[in-house]
Amino acid sequence: MSIPLTELRVAIIGSGPAGFYAAESLQKAAPGVQITMFDRLPTPFGLVRGGVAPDHPKIKSVSRVFDRIASQPGFRFVGHVTVGEDLSHEQLRQHFDAVIYAVGAELDRHLDIPGEFLEGSHSATELVGWYNGHPSYADRRFDLAQQSAAVIGIGNVAMDTTRILLTPADQLAGTDLAATALAELGTSRLNAVHILARRGPVQAACTTPELKELGEIPGVDVIVDPADLDLDPISARHLAEDHDRTTENNIALFRHWAERGSTDAPRRIVFHFCVSPLELIGEGRVAVLRVVRNQLVPDGRGSVRAEPTDAIREVPVGLIFRSVGYRGTAIAGLPFDQQRGIVPNASGRVVESPGSATFVRGVYVCGWIKRGPHGIIGTNKTDAAETVDHLLADAVSGRLAPASGSPALLDQELADAGVDVTTWADWVVLDQAERDRGAQAGRPREKIVSVPEMLAAIHAARAAR
Ligand code: NAP
Repeated sequence: MSIPLTELRVAIIGSGPAGFYAAESLQKAAPGVQITMFDRLPTPFGLVRGGVAPDHPKIKSVSRVFDRIASQPGFRFVGHVTVGEDLSHEQLRQHFDAVIYAVGAELDRHLDIPGEFLEGSHSATELVGWYNGHPSYADRRFDLAQQSAAVIGIGNVAMDTTRILLTPADQLAGTDLAATALAELGTSRLNAVHILARRGPVQAACTTPELKELGEIPGVDVIVDPADLDLDPISARHLAEDHDRTTENNIALFRHWAERGSTDAPRRIVFHFCVSPLELIGEGRVAVLRVVRNQLVPDGRGSVRAEPTDAIREVPVGLIFRSVGYRGTAIAGLPFDQQRGIVPNASGRVVESPGSATFVRGVYVCGWIKRGPHGIIGTNKTDAAETVDHLLADAVSGRLAPASGSPALLDQELADAGVDVTTWADWVVLDQAERDRGAQAGRPREKIVSVPEMLAAIHAARAAR
């Protein structure tokens, strides 16, 4: 039985870019659609609030687009609800015609080396969550009395991590960086960050604007060994022939830094190419990072992979930030592709197992849980549109099972279970409270970083209405 698009009731789990772009696609193609967007936090926007670096306000301003989507008729935000704890996948299936999971990829990939979890070794995710005031990470502590840190990986998260660690705190004060983190960064004694890439400069996963920003931090030299720019044949051919603008521009920057050398700035960022961490060593806490020199060999797919040599050396460091990518987590009630860390799907339609052609009726994915942890915010727009196109086609062709319950019944079930859900109006209250606190401190926003404190502010505002 087909469901008229104007009557469709869709649950979206996750209120980051993937979730909001899915909502926008639904609103455009099916005016009248009822959308309920769930998030486990009382605040919306996912990585736009908790991941994008605070000194990138232009990227964060995409939240204004999301505000507009949230203001459309038929859209509801239900915050402070964790699917799998407060509400089950089965309940969602019962009360909505379709469910879209847009939950991202929240786990860090591991290095799987001895000493990986020694005191002083952190995932970049922890640091990023901490400086962004994410409630799950707000109380983390990093020993910024150390003078030397290593960042493992050379993607954009590694760039953000390095830049925030070395940017003078007075420059960060004009951002919405969490107040505690700002105070602690102000006391930092770090004067060297070593960025470790397992392959060469041509394979750097970061994009040029983010790389370039490292060279713009006051009082910081960027050190690149000219020998690292003697490229292996495959990398040289890629650079010469493939017209890959990002790589060309990255290499131009690395060459500039290699030629310039040190300017005797008080702090420095040092790139180490073709090295992999072998072990973290220290008595109780990390003191030394043992690394192996890699050689680059053909990977059989036109690029190169890192193969360890016998050359091993030690880098003294007091802090480690592992920034080697993310991984999705399994969702109770849904199949999971352990190897890729995603929910198996065919262009957004969830399938029973990786490679299967059998769809799980009425269940969809978009964003990082669909395709893996790659791409910028805008990538989610086309990604979500693809998922929504399939969902709408399924609604029209009768491949959706109409909900037996309703969103209103689910609200009742959540209330009966004592779940303290929050609404968009509550978020507006928090948003204003954070801006007011910021204004008092001469900052754009001062985030509330604990869920109980958020709920207290929400309840106080409700009582005053
Ligand atoms: P990423 O771009 O996938 O980079 C991961 C890095 O870790 C790569 O350099 C990778 O090297 C390395 N790596 C993986 N496994 C390793 C291992 N076992 N040992 C050593 N190195 C290893 O991931 P990300 O930095 O977490 O970023 C995730 C996504 O968010 C990316 O698409 C990124 O562009 C995006 N993002 C964008 C912005 C922005 O636009 N400003 C900011 C932050 C994040 P190999 O290449 O050799 O695998």
